[in-house]
Amino acid sequence: MIKVDQLSKNFNDNEVLKSISLEIEKGEVLSIIGPSGSGKTTLLRCLNLLESPTSGSLKIKDVVVTFNGKTPSKKQKVDIQQYSGMVFQHFHLFPHKTVIENIIEAPLIVQKRDKQEVVAEAEELLKKVGLSAHKNHYPEQLSGGQKQRAAIARILALKPDVLLFDEPTSALDPELVGEVLTVIKDLAQEGQTMIIVTHEMHFAREVSDRVVFIADGYIVEEGKPEVLFSSPQEERTKKFLEKVL
Ligand code: ADP
Repeated sequence: MIKVDQLSKNFNDNEVLKSISLEIEKGEVLSIIGPSGSGKTTLLRCLNLLESPTSGSLKIKDVVVTFNGKTPSKKQKVDIQQYSGMVFQHFHLFPHKTVIENIIEAPLIVQKRDKQEVVAEAEELLKKVGLSAHKNHYPEQLSGGQKQRAAIARILALKPDVLLFDEPTSALDPELVGEVLTVIKDLAQEGQTMIIVTHEMHFAREVSDRVVFIADGYIVEEGKPEVLFSSPQEERTKKFLEKVL
């Protein structure tokens, strides 16, 4: 479904991603782990064209974008973003809209879909993320875990082929992490294609089909979680895992 080929990203002189190549199959759950500052978030943002890669190419389904130092066109962004949806660390909900208004906004305004149908689907999504009782609440009335579940429902309303999660639990109090991870696990079981940048190693091990370890902008090692976490091949991976596990 996704093919990343020799993708690099510079911020001025700082080469943050160095020739990343990666393929993701439909239905696959891929976790990206690695030290802080290694380029994980930048890679995720490049996959959604929230950042403009410097070189290389990105293919999602039938859309191919080749990068040559220029900012991708608006059309290229729209084409890529129709297939992928990002869940952010800090939720990015519209503060002046209720939970259900947050969910129906883009399907109505961007996708110009039928309101009755969109509202019915939003009600289903609210059930799925356990927020039916909060549908008329504003984000400030919700806990962090509830905000993140609302943000997930809002992205799901756009029916993305691939969901991108950028450290979805790192802004949450520890006791609220589990409820968000449960929603993501349920999506994995339903076969939703997902790429998850996470610090939750136990979660990555449990939910992922494949784990990619990134350090200094390179893919150091990738593999099935039971292999990568138990018997990493590279010294760099071993050192990282010793620290975080
Ligand atoms: P990670 O998600 O692994 O912690 P990031 O992708 O956030 O790493 O950051 C990788 C590097 O890119 C860091 O050195 C960071 O300072 C730099 N960086 C990220 N975003 C920007 C930006 N918008 N402008 C300049 N440098 C950036």
